Order: sequence, then C-alpha cells, then structure tokens
Amino acid sequence: MEIAKIGEFGLIDRLTKDIKPQNTSTQYGVGDDCAVLHYPDSEVLITTDMLMEGVHFDLTYIDLQHLGWKSAMVNISDIFAMNGTPRQMTVSLALSKRFSVEDVEQFYSGLRMACDKWGVDIVGGDTTSSYTGLAISITCIGEARKEDIVYRNGAKETDLICVSGDLGAAYMGLQLLEREKSVYYQMIEDAKKKAATVHAGATVPDGATVSAASTAGSIPDFQPDFAGKEYLLQRQLKTEARGDIIQKLREAGIRPTAMMDISDGLSSELMHICKQSHVGCRVFEKQIPIDYQTAVMAEELNMNVTTCALNGGEDYELLFTVPIGDHEKIQQLEDVKLIGHITKESLGHVLVTRDDQEFELKAQGWTMEKA
Ligand SMILES: [Mg+2]
Repeated sequence: MEIAKIGEFGLIDRLTKDIKPQNTSTQYGVGDDCAVLHYPDSEVLITTDMLMEGVHFDLTYIDLQHLGWKSAMVNISDIFAMNGTPRQMTVSLALSKRFSVEDVEQFYSGLRMACDKWGVDIVGGDTTSSYTGLAISITCIGEARKEDIVYRNGAKETDLICVSGDLGAAYMGLQLLEREKSVYYQMIEDAKKKAATVHAGATVPDGATVSAASTAGSIPDFQPDFAGKEYLLQRQLKTEARGDIIQKLREAGIRPTAMMDISDGLSSELMHICKQSHVGCRVFEKQIPIDYQTAVMAEELNMNVTTCALNGGEDYELLFTVPIGDHEKIQQLEDVKLIGHITKESLGHVLVTRDDQEFELKAQGWTMEKA
C-alpha cells in the first residue's frame, strides 16, 4: 500500500495504535503535541542518533525489520553505557516513495521488539517524505540515580580494563555481506554480457539488466554462502545492547569507574576513556576476546584478526574500567574479559602483542613504531 493512500496521520495511527506505555515515568505518550515524562528522583539521560541510507546502512544487506531492531538497540546501548535504564524513545523517519506502508510496519515491528526487550516506551516521533531514501532519527531517554551514572572520565591509574562479549565479529559480518553482494553483482554482470551475446550484438540497456539476462536464461539462482558464519551475520544484523552485563555488574556490587559502548572499535573507544580520564593504558593482545568465526573469516580475507577486533565497529559491547580491588569479582563474571589496565598518562597507550612486543595503540589500530 502506498503511504500517500492513508497519509501521514493514517500511517502514524497504524504504527502506534496499540502502544501501551509500561513505565510510570511515561505520563503521556503518543497523541498530543508533546509526550509528558515524570522523573521525580532521577537524573535523565538523553541520547540521539541519526542513520542515513547509503551512509550507515545498505538495504541490500539488511531488511527493514532488522534495521528497526538495530536502530533501537544502538540507542538503548548508549543509555546502558552510562549505567542507566532506558525508558522512552522517539522515532523519526524520512521516507522516499519507494517505501510502502508494509515496509514501515516491518521497520516498526523490529523497533518494537527491541523496545519490548528492554521495557522502553515509544512516546512520539515524526514521519516525513524524502527524495533520496530512508533517514532514521532516534532519541532514547533513560534514567539513573546521580551516584550511579558512569562517565568516560572516571578511570584511575591501576584500574582494570574490561570488555564484554567478543570483538570484531560485527565488522567481519559486514565484510561477509559485502563479499556476497559483489559475488551477486558479478553474476549479474556476467549474465548481462551473455545475454548481450545471445541477442546478436544488441546492447542491453541499463536498468533492464536482470530481465534481459533472465530472458537469455543465463542468470543462475543466487545463494549467498553464509555457512559456518551465522554468528558474524547475527552480530552485524541483530545487534544486542548489553543491559544484561549492566545487571550482572550491579548484582556483583561492581561499579565501573569509566564506561562506554564500543560502536567505533576498541582502540578509538579506549582513547576516549584515556583522554577524558587523563590516563594511559596497557592492553594485552592475547586477552582480547575474539570468536572463532571472526578468526576464520579474518584469515579468509587475509586480514589481521587483532586489527579487526581493535578497529571493527558496531560490536556494541561494553568497555569499562573497575578498581583493582574488584579483580576477583570480575573474574567470576561470565562474558566479561579483563584485557589490561590503566596507567599513568605519561606512559601512553600501549598494546602488548602475543610475542611480548610493545606498540603504541592508535585510534585506528596500532602503529608499528615501538612504544
Ligand atoms: Mg556510545
């Protein structure tokens, strides 16, 4: 169904009619000029994120339902990264004519699944038209007690550096999708050439490529090869915000001194913590958690797996520091790994490799100059 058929208000109605707020802080949700929120005893956390088609996502790889899920999760992740609890979300979409009502419903179903997982109320948003594609702007609102908020600037000398989950897999998932996309396009190109030959030298007009090729009966069914790499795809397409880790840390009585989520890669996030906390760091390559599938894929692509783990983005794991006294507690936490420690600022940012060499960590990986 064309969106024009039901109009903007019709669409909003359809998308939001059965949304029921779950949080007491949501006094009034969708339906008036503003949503009304009430936070009597907490600090309010706000994060916002804009995603542009062709820049941040490619709809040849990701379907709208996964995109909705991911758009919500990356915002929720930022609230957890402050040690907060996500509560509300607003969602704004700019849609070009090629999107139907059903497409937007798909997007919303993914978005709502992610919100439901963490008890987040959708309290408003906007939809508008776009000439160029899909643009998504999401704002997530959360709460935390003042004393619980964890900033990036609290890391202290001798603190331990920890990460949740494993790193580099989302990036490898993207490489995998790109590889399969280029295989597919090559196949179409080949079929096109073949079709052109079949049609006795007639040139195949652009835009009619696939059908021309199909007429010639030469385009094979395309089956992307993802066998044994499901985890990488999952990490790229079905992003998870690590609220479970926040929960575990609370239960264990551990309060991180600094924390952030890893959206741009471990290296650059570590730099942010060090810079804002005025400290240095020492990270051990052999401690960096890497999944088996990530390692296999890196080898297939002839890439250094540590570089992928340090620079690959979109892991949305948590990077945090804790006082050295929490060493034992941290070691007992499942899915959290100790990767190094905080040092004096003057000692810089050091990566200790598997063979005990020391290199300087850079926002993009590390340099081959000895630290
Ligand atoms: Mg963040």
